[in-house]
Amino acid sequence: MPEGDAVWRAARRLHQAFTGQVLIRTDFRWPSLATTTLVGARTLEVIPRGKHMLHRVEVSGRGTLDGAWTIHSHFRMDGTWRHSATTHPPGAFRTPTVRAVLATAERTAVGDTLGMLDVVRTADEHLLVGHLGPDVLGRDWDAARAAAHLATASGTIGAALLDQRNLAGLGTIWTAESLFAQRISPWRPASDLTADELVALAVRAQKLIAGSLRYPLSTSTGDTRRGRETYVYRRLRQPCRRCGTPVSAGMVGTPPQDRNLFYCPTCQAH
Ligand SMILES: [Zn+2]
Repeated sequence: MPEGDAVWRAARRLHQAFTGQVLIRTDFRWPSLATTTLVGARTLEVIPRGKHMLHRVEVSGRGTLDGAWTIHSHFRMDGTWRHSATTHPPGAFRTPTVRAVLATAERTAVGDTLGMLDVVRTADEHLLVGHLGPDVLGRDWDAARAAAHLATASGTIGAALLDQRNLAGLGTIWTAESLFAQRISPWRPASDLTADELVALAVRAQKLIAGSLRYPLSTSTGDTRRGRETYVYRRLRQPCRRCGTPVSAGMVGTPPQDRNLFYCPTCQAH
């Protein structure tokens, strides 16, 4: 599942290719957007917000539609945004999972398997992302505020880290890796952790995910070779890199929001 750093990379790629360029084709394959077109709009910026992407454009010369608009998307489990040269004939991108096509004269971006797609006035973005906690990769990052949110969570610390209202951007990779780094069991009640533990955990999560931005893929170890990217994530039954105990896994949260987290039973004993 794409996490904050994956969305950050995707947003950066689109930002670099689209900023300042005019859209010559917009195709939203989403029921509520069937009649929406942003042809002629110019891209101002593309930014990540937690696991959401905000593609901001400026419309002019269209009367009441003039002004700043945002194409909001969420990657959910398997979503992607990719772009390539605009050379495709009309009728291309007929794959049923394609949800959006945005083209400039130079580049065409395709949003596939997106979990959410909206077009809103930029002034109304908060209606879509206002519920998010401090963004681990955002300008508003605030470890103390994230820790304060975690302290009031009712469930386990594993579930609390995954709840985007507490802090935004972590999925199962960074939740597992951060808890391992801090030697905290995913099943400890969030309210049992001390204020210092929670702040240190939030700081660690941000450092790990931000550190991963230097690489083309998610890595907490700084090693991008296959199977060496993480300490515990997807390393079931392999020896813990710290103590040698076989890595284990278990569910946190309540269905249907429950997720599988990897951990070391020795380093992260209850
Ligand atoms: Zn261990």
